[in-house]
Amino acid sequence: MAKDIILLGPPGAGKGTQAHLLEANHAMVQLSTGDMLRAAVKSGSDLGKKVQAVMDAGELVSDDLVSALIDDRLNQIGPDAGAIFDGYPRTEPQAHSLDELLEARGRKLDHVIELEVDEDALVDRITGRFTCAVCGEGYHDRYKLPKVENTCDECGSHEFKRRPDDNEETVRKRMAEYRAKTAPILPIYEKRGIVSRIDGMGGIEEVRAAIEKVLAD
Ligand code: AMP
Repeated sequence: MAKDIILLGPPGAGKGTQAHLLEANHAMVQLSTGDMLRAAVKSGSDLGKKVQAVMDAGELVSDDLVSALIDDRLNQIGPDAGAIFDGYPRTEPQAHSLDELLEARGRKLDHVIELEVDEDALVDRITGRFTCAVCGEGYHDRYKLPKVENTCDECGSHEFKRRPDDNEETVRKRMAEYRAKTAPILPIYEKRGIVSRIDGMGGIEEVRAAIEKVLAD
């Protein structure tokens, strides 16, 4: 069976980027509660309407709701695929729910990988980021503009989008939530000896190599 891992780190640490690279190179599937919630908001469903204001404020949606999303998504991945939990669990109750959800399926967590980052640098990273609305390729106002103005390098689209919660005030709020509620779940996994810390301020390739090293253990 492939490995089940949690990518942990404040918003903008690069969890999503690394999850996509892992998906490309391993039989692993990204399970991002943030992506699931954004899809619900976009669809205009009742769930989406309920969570939109909470997300826009940078606060956390309810534990039961995100755990139900993960429960549902875990049913869709087979036993041979590993799960990359990205943005979940974010609180202690979610960490306990995840244990139960995995145990019910005969799975267990192999690694919790924490990406360590500098908060001020992160604000700079997050407030400039945008993505292609068609293929999802990531860009940045200061660090990675499309090679041809307003044209996606990957698919040629001219449409781009920004997350509404990627403004400085909300980013600071999301980081405070991370420090208060998410960082405290690390000791649960430290007791099991499955936590690895990686310097998340390095380049994408450096961080990727460090994660691969953990997975190879
Ligand atoms: P993310 O894309 O992981 O940064 O998540 C964006 C927003 O979705 C967060 O600021 C929260 O409002 C909400 N969210 C995502 N995952 C969770 C979670 N596991 N628990 C509670 N709220 C979440």
